[in-house]
Amino acid sequence: MKRKKKTLAERKETVKYWRDKADILFSELERKTVGHCQICSKLGLARKGDGAMIKGLHIHHIIERDWYRYRYRRNNTIVVCVGCHGSMANYRNRSCSAHGSLIAQDLFYAIAWDKFPEKKEFYELHKPEGKTEKDENGHVVVYKSAYYKEIFEALNANKT
Ligand SMILES: [Zn+2]
Repeated sequence: MKRKKKTLAERKETVKYWRDKADILFSELERKTVGHCQICSKLGLARKGDGAMIKGLHIHHIIERDWYRYRYRRNNTIVVCVGCHGSMANYRNRSCSAHGSLIAQDLFYAIAWDKFPEKKEFYELHKPEGKTEKDENGHVVVYKSAYYKEIFEALNANKT
């Protein structure tokens, strides 16, 4: 059976719609504010269109993105160049990267913790157990679209 395409109004009710919007805005604001790789200092390049100096920069999440409660916390993210991020196959062999070999990750975090003790502190305080967030009864925590919508609107309101 062919599934009917969702209307915009219907899409706006979904988690994905607001989570994607919050993800994009959070990443863009962080990259714009910082403007360079916080590990190796490489500068962002001008993006086509508005010229924002954010091209070639990523956001690395220290505690994985699937822990939604930490997903939009500045202390849980580091602005990185694609090389230092190491999340793409061509950059896997770097001697220092967030997703590289264990040695590369050690070097990445040695630099990160040295430069940003507040991020280290945040990580040590919140470092979770396991891959997914669970409540005190052991149930996987699911955030509704309103949670992401609220985050998106708060980020948007502070936008300069
Ligand atoms: Zn870098």
